[in-house]
Amino acid sequence: MTPLACAHPDATVPRTFEVEPRSTTPLADEAMSEAARSSPHASSILRSLTDEVGPRLAGSQADKAAVAWALRTMRDLGLASVHPEPVVVPHWERGAESGAIISPFSQRLALTALGGSIGTPGLEAEVVEVDSLLALERRRKTEIAGKIVFIPTKVRPLRDGSDYGRAVMNRSNGAAAAAKLGAVGYLVESVGSDHTRLPHTGSMHPAEIPAAALAVPDAELLHRILATGKTVRLQVSLGAHALPDAESANVIGEVRGGDLSNELVLLAAHLDSWDLGTGALDDGAGCAIVLEAARLLASVGRQPRRTVRVTLFANEEHGLSGSHAYAKAHGDEVERHVLGIEADMGAGSVYRARVLGGPGARPTFMALVNHLRPLGITPSFDDAHGGADLGDLRSLGMPVLDLSQDATSYFDHHHSANDTLDKVDPSALEQAALAFALAAWAAADDNATFGRIPDPKRVPN
Ligand SMILES: [Zn+2]
Repeated sequence: MTPLACAHPDATVPRTFEVEPRSTTPLADEAMSEAARSSPHASSILRSLTDEVGPRLAGSQADKAAVAWALRTMRDLGLASVHPEPVVVPHWERGAESGAIISPFSQRLALTALGGSIGTPGLEAEVVEVDSLLALERRRKTEIAGKIVFIPTKVRPLRDGSDYGRAVMNRSNGAAAAAKLGAVGYLVESVGSDHTRLPHTGSMHPAEIPAAALAVPDAELLHRILATGKTVRLQVSLGAHALPDAESANVIGEVRGGDLSNELVLLAAHLDSWDLGTGALDDGAGCAIVLEAARLLASVGRQPRRTVRVTLFANEEHGLSGSHAYAKAHGDEVERHVLGIEADMGAGSVYRARVLGGPGARPTFMALVNHLRPLGITPSFDDAHGGADLGDLRSLGMPVLDLSQDATSYFDHHHSANDTLDKVDPSALEQAALAFALAAWAAADDNATFGRIPDPKRVPN
């Protein structure tokens, strides 16, 4: 790949833009749009990550390969200050796994361990279905002890992906709640909107019992048999096991700014993925979006006033280790972070923007949105969330911008073996990359502020 115009910015670069009128901004938008149209690159970045590295679970050998890939790719793209920042991550392996209904009928079950689950060579027990996490917490020990708890969980495919937040509680908190009541195992219906027999894994709070997700059709089968009132017994084997913590890294590169280079616009995604698919949507797409955005920023041919920092976080999936480490290492300079934008909602096109900043952020936000309108992106006046990897910085007051991507089909594939490159629509991915570039440029090539998030809104993830 050709190094870009801003590959080696230094103090000798003339800061002509300081005296240029603001009417030059449309030229920057035009340059980025033209670069995105004539030589779109996000898809090839994503192809490279998914084909050459593949699944990259925190702590694995492939996780290390992903860090090397990210350093190499950022350097090839001509980013400045490319470097890794070490992060200690948990290391867990899935191993072989199987499950079956053994009575009253024999049926194989498609299941997969939840991240961090303990293993079991062959648990056999009666299963008890509970409607929800809330209902489980109200059960008595005598009803649950010695049994495998099963919670059915439906996720509606919504454009903003918002149903996931509700449903995921069953996955993340169910096993710990079941263990507290003496359960010997935990099964959750996959937090997925598909009907394939590929279960969806994901993180959970640590529990002393084996925990797994059933594929949606398998969960429905189990539910139907239980609904007959018959006693149902299951057999579950999980080869899951924990290994010693391992070294990984956040990978950082920058498009250097000019007269306000000390101020940062943060573009974030996470480099790790679950192990079942190749992490194309989660979050290879986000990596490709922010890396391509950086390339487009450089295509303008001059520096933005502020620095745009691309950070690919380590281990989002299994404990947010990378974002915690970044906040720890950079917490004393959080005031320098004027805005954070994260890409971690798949490869869909951006349709909406919203912000969470200080009370005076609205005019700055509206000016930024004007740069996005040509892509069909409209403002929302609800508060932005910012994404999981920006949670710590958000709770320290850093303003966040959501560039909401169409997530209608995202949870069909998310965290499953189906999270592969063929699910990506290249034109939607390139649109998202351009949207991130336009927003980052608008925020960076300006001295307007988004303020700081007020205390009551500094909520953690
Ligand atoms: Zn993700």
